[in-house]
Amino acid sequence: MADPSITTAARVAQLLAGLLPGGAVGSLVAGEILPGTGAALDLVNPADGQVILSYADAGATVVEAAMAAAREGQRAWARMTASNRGRAMWEVARLVRANAAALAELETLTAGKPIRDTSGEVLKVAEMFEYYAGWCDKLHGEVIPVPTSHLNYTRPEPLGTVVQITPWNAPIFTAGWQIAPAICAGNATVLKPSELTPLTSLALGALCDQAGLPKGLVSVLAGAGATTGAAAVGHRDTRLVVFVGSAATGAAIAAQAARNIVPCILELGGKSANIVFEDADLDRALLGAQAAVFGAAGQSCVAGSRLLVQRGVQARFIERLAQASARIPVGAPTDPATQIGPINNRRQWDRIAEMVGAAQAAGARLATGGGCPAALRATGGFYYAPTILDGVGAAATIATEEVFGPVLAALTFDHEEEAVEIANATPYGLAGAVWTRDVGRAHRVAAGVRAGTFWINGYRSISVMSPFGGFGRSGFGRSSGLDALRAYTQTKSVWTETAAEPAAAFGYAER
Ligand code: NAD
Repeated sequence: MADPSITTAARVAQLLAGLLPGGAVGSLVAGEILPGTGAALDLVNPADGQVILSYADAGATVVEAAMAAAREGQRAWARMTASNRGRAMWEVARLVRANAAALAELETLTAGKPIRDTSGEVLKVAEMFEYYAGWCDKLHGEVIPVPTSHLNYTRPEPLGTVVQITPWNAPIFTAGWQIAPAICAGNATVLKPSELTPLTSLALGALCDQAGLPKGLVSVLAGAGATTGAAAVGHRDTRLVVFVGSAATGAAIAAQAARNIVPCILELGGKSANIVFEDADLDRALLGAQAAVFGAAGQSCVAGSRLLVQRGVQARFIERLAQASARIPVGAPTDPATQIGPINNRRQWDRIAEMVGAAQAAGARLATGGGCPAALRATGGFYYAPTILDGVGAAATIATEEVFGPVLAALTFDHEEEAVEIANATPYGLAGAVWTRDVGRAHRVAAGVRAGTFWINGYRSISVMSPFGGFGRSGFGRSSGLDALRAYTQTKSVWTETAAEPAAAFGYAER
């Protein structure tokens, strides 16, 4: 952990010196850091609002260099045996583990996430590379018994260069989540992390180079969305766009990709329902409800931001939840005791405050929280207290729109069908959960709620081994598990004539 007598800017510079070639911030292309050519972008410390460093937006010239490097990198990757590709991915995982403390600290200092969270997330990144390393030499096609004299087989082939665009809420976790399946399937990737949090993605890219992956196989662009991101999405070599972020930006990116007939995987936001029945283990549900929405200060696409509690226990449950939530340690993300750190950026803090104010004006009752905790106001950081709004109607904006902050909308229901109906009353469909001791009901609700991930008597567990993605406005495509490898490959069907005397010149009769 950092020496408290040095500034965040100085500590970030120290960490970068150990993690990036040359230690300077730019885009990582073919093993080198290329300076940007565009406007200056500031990295702001979420814990005190001070600028840590500035760097130049990558711009079109750097994007062109990354795309050219990706072509070369992908060719070199294809020349390696599948087993050696797997070994190289294992080496990335080993290097991530060896640098875990530095990566977690860098993430905490620049994204504002508590060190207890980032320490775990970095190890998850290592697991992602380990999991997909194992798939490298197990991806193969099949022989199809076609009704002619042919040997027909399939080959899962890479798409080529994939452009991956990620947001600021879990930067290195999301980078690993996207890079590992893409390269396992044989593609090169050009990743553009959020301009607000590019450093740990750059560091991960540098570790990929250090591990012996061909130069250019993984490039990381440091730049803004509308300039650098859009240039990468629209590039003639882009064969797939993977986007994680807001629905509005996802729709714009998908439209741009569609003009070049390029497919997309979209992982967008959510407004996930966490449903508590009267027969649940209410103590466990109470802990689960807090983890669901206050983990990562609510800046989580799967946040359980709608809590539906059955009427008989609702008032007491919300009272206990409000008391417990007010005791969650909110504070400096570098403090190992902190469970809720600052919001990543000022704009997002303002959006949260605006949505909470509007909900109160529309009649919601503030059960706890609202605004920056008094003890943290002097820090200049973007802190927001864990907040619960009670008495919220199912159609209220706070119950249907994503807040992306530590804000819970509490709703009430009387019976099972109503709970499922309310859960499905938003256009989103990313995740959800049910708490009950009735096993039949648990599975009925799991089947009835429209969501890509659903938990029974739990919340938040995800694994690189299991498919993850959205229904409805939460997006489409899956970017983990075996499903991701299908999305990152295209199937070629190969026909080989085996007959001594082929049956026909035009068309083939059945044997
Ligand atoms: P965003 O969707 O605007 O940005 C996400 C990424 O897309 C960033 O890397 C950004 O630079 C890039 N981008 C933006 N415009 C682009 C363009 N035209 N072409 C290519 N790339 C482009 O999200 P944000 O501004 O970071 O956050 C805004 C909202 O998004 C939040 O309030 C929150 O609701 C939501 N969000 C959701 C998630 C999630 O995982 N579901 C994560 C972060 C933010």
